[in-house]
Amino acid sequence: MKILCIGRNYVDHARELKNEIPDRPLIFMKPSTALFEGKKWHKPGFSEDVHYECEWVLRMGKNARNVDEEEALRFVDGMTLGIDFTARDIQSVLKKKGHPWERAKAFDGSAVVGEWQPFNPKPQQFSFYQGEKLLQRGDTDLMIFKLPFLIHHLSQYFTLEPGDLIFTGTPQGVGRVEAGASYAGFLGGKSVLSFEVEA
Ligand code: MG
Repeated sequence: MKILCIGRNYVDHARELKNEIPDRPLIFMKPSTALFEGKKWHKPGFSEDVHYECEWVLRMGKNARNVDEEEALRFVDGMTLGIDFTARDIQSVLKKKGHPWERAKAFDGSAVVGEWQPFNPKPQQFSFYQGEKLLQRGDTDLMIFKLPFLIHHLSQYFTLEPGDLIFTGTPQGVGRVEAGASYAGFLGGKSVLSFEVEA
């Protein structure tokens, strides 16, 4: 199982980190050991600035290779919300040097996913809270690269296999995760993601 992630897929988020708006999807990957589906998430000790990035996450249901945009959605079998956890301090150093991002984005537990829902191809609204405080609000219709194109594009390079996950990018509002806090995500108004952070 592999986890494919899209970076800078919302204009407002690219701007908040002072990044350029990409003209093609920015792709990175996380290993299967990054997956976390539990309720008590442990902050890694190697970073002082771990950020949450709440994202719409899709699960592939069939092998997809070189698929057209028109048929791309037939290969998806589930959706949920997830967190693309990012060690922002480490990422900043790697970005400056032009080095790969893995230490900042692909560490154990860096891909949190919520409860799986049946895939719905319509635009999805989602929100992410720390306790009662709204942190992020997203609308998949505002993604720069939409899901059919992402699947088409990814499948030119990587065979997408059943169980593979796609993190589609985060909207504005990323920030530092706090030990002791509780977090919750809502997809289409439904609670699908919740976890606590331990130091
Ligand atoms: Mg992200």
